[in-house]
Amino acid sequence: MEGPRLMFGWFKRSGQKPEVYEGEGIFLKCPDCDNYHRSPDIPSFDAAIRLACETVGATTQKSYSEYNCLSSDGRWDMLPEEGIFCFTNSDGRRCFADFSLVGSWIEATHSWMWGWNLPDTHITPANRKASDLARAKGEAEGWPCLTTPSLLLNADEAWHLTDLAAFLAGYPMVYRAKVNEKAWAYFAIDQLAWET
Ligand SMILES: [Zn+2]
Repeated sequence: MEGPRLMFGWFKRSGQKPEVYEGEGIFLKCPDCDNYHRSPDIPSFDAAIRLACETVGATTQKSYSEYNCLSSDGRWDMLPEEGIFCFTNSDGRRCFADFSLVGSWIEATHSWMWGWNLPDTHITPANRKASDLARAKGEAEGWPCLTTPSLLLNADEAWHLTDLAAFLAGYPMVYRAKVNEKAWAYFAIDQLAWET
């Protein structure tokens, strides 16, 4: 009978308690009910994250030390028009690379927004590569964490997603920077080179 089946579907959805995010794992914003639900366990996704974190983690450390990116008296800049990321060392030496804005994350609310869903005022075509590739990979593999625009996650998970996006883009380095009172921007950065 059609009736009871429909009824059951309706009943199940409205009876679903919104889950509270307690700072672990990834929650997906549901397009049906606007609540956040825990992301499903997908071993192939976890494996892809692990591989990306191992690979990009190692090359990131190498880039950081080679280009002195973590020194407290250095500075970072974006030249969004050109799609260029720039580090300025304390001695004035600069290095450059292409970059992607992978996502933005608000610490207080744990809210992640994928770069591919950010408005044109925040992201240019030159800086979409890594997040667009992540979304396409998510569509191909059925990995909802890469295809849902708004997520709840902690700082570790933000790095994980950024590592994966960088890995897919072939970018060796990830970086994050505080862009205002509340929000961090997570970047995937191509091979840096010293200014000549
Ligand atoms: Zn829902």
